[in-house]
Amino acid sequence: MGDPLLHLGRHLRLDDNPLLASTAAARERLLPVFALDPSIMRGPHQEAFLLASLADLQSSLRARGSDLLLLHEPPPADVRDRYTSPIRMISDGDLPFDASAMPRTYTPFRQRIEAAGVRFTAPIAAPDRLPPLPDGVVCPTIEVPDVTMIATGGPSSAVRHWKQYRDRRLPDTYKETRNELLGCDYSSKLSPWLAWGCISPRRIAHDLLLYEAEFGANEGTYWLWFELLWRDFFSLLASHTRGDRGAVDPHDTSWQRLSTARLGHPFVDAGLRELNATGFLGNRMRQIVASYCIHELDWPWTVGEAYFAHHLIDYDPASNVGNWRYIAGQGADPRGGRRFNIDKQREMYDANHAYTQFWTDPPQ
Ligand SMILES: Cc1cc2nc3c(=O)[nH]c(=O)nc-3n(C[C@H](O)[C@H](O)[C@H](O)COP(=O)(O)OP(=O)(O)OC[C@H]3O[C@@H](n4cnc5c(N)ncnc54)[C@H](O)[C@@H]3O)c2cc1C
Repeated sequence: MGDPLLHLGRHLRLDDNPLLASTAAARERLLPVFALDPSIMRGPHQEAFLLASLADLQSSLRARGSDLLLLHEPPPADVRDRYTSPIRMISDGDLPFDASAMPRTYTPFRQRIEAAGVRFTAPIAAPDRLPPLPDGVVCPTIEVPDVTMIATGGPSSAVRHWKQYRDRRLPDTYKETRNELLGCDYSSKLSPWLAWGCISPRRIAHDLLLYEAEFGANEGTYWLWFELLWRDFFSLLASHTRGDRGAVDPHDTSWQRLSTARLGHPFVDAGLRELNATGFLGNRMRQIVASYCIHELDWPWTVGEAYFAHHLIDYDPASNVGNWRYIAGQGADPRGGRRFNIDKQREMYDANHAYTQFWTDPPQ
């Protein structure tokens, strides 16, 4: 029989969800649950994205005769990993090295994987059938707060978004556009759904291979895979480097300056306004903000890490810590940190000031 409770954690999908598939096959009764830890303070966009993801998943589960119950408590210790680690593109068993002995910098990590010809682990289909709930259990319908969002959470919107991205042939131009700052299409924008496990990176990599078979492989399709591999890299690295993390302190002066987008450089402040208004920031701007906080303001990397963790709709513990540490020169960066010349970055990526103007406060 077994315990009917299944903590989904950051695996909010039916497709390519190995734990859901194996548990569903083994149980006569199943109660999928998500522990919405009330002690975690989330920014409004992150909260809305997560609740929309849970509501969408609840509809999909109900369509298969199951449901989703929200528990307003921290997850039990033995399943906590599920709440911090979404699925990787390459499972441990397909890596050409033992996961515990992985190369600790990205380039040799990628080279070993490419040399072995590994691209991804094959995704598995959604289970055909889900066992009924235990007798007498009623799951309230999950309410979604009314917040204007740049992306709607949930597995069905993830699939729609990824499909339109391919239908419009945007992977082809990904390498050229990925560092842009304005608009929706310069990068894939898959990260929020990946972070909450609404879509599996194995499915994305699999679809990318089908896309290449149909339209041809090119630098854009390769680069998208290359960036997804960074995500795997930081995820694996995090499993070896548990350590310091940032802590939310809304009364701290640095936190106040971040919340009011008053760090002192107009380009960086524009980035913070985008983050505060949307819960999202493109990769280039994340690097610029992080470099400014660490190398110009001399703040410990944990301050900005905690701020991003609170606001980003794609907040992913391993990627966030990994990238902040990388820019600070700890962990994965063999070059000892990345200090960006902010004025030069603005000349390169915002020569006409369109981004800075777009995200600048109107005069009071
Ligand atoms: C300081 C800092 C903090 C970050 N925090 C997060 C975070 O909390 N969550 C998060 O998902 N990403 C984080 N990133 C990585 C990256 O900025 C975002 O994944 C990316 O901007 C999301 O947009 P996209 O989906 O359009 O990415 P694309 O450019 O389309 O890339 C495709 C996918 O590859 C992965 N990816 C790309 N770049 C990276 C990277 N540098 N590290 C890890 N994965 C990557 C993401 O899953 C992304 O969705 C951070 C980067 C920096 C510099």
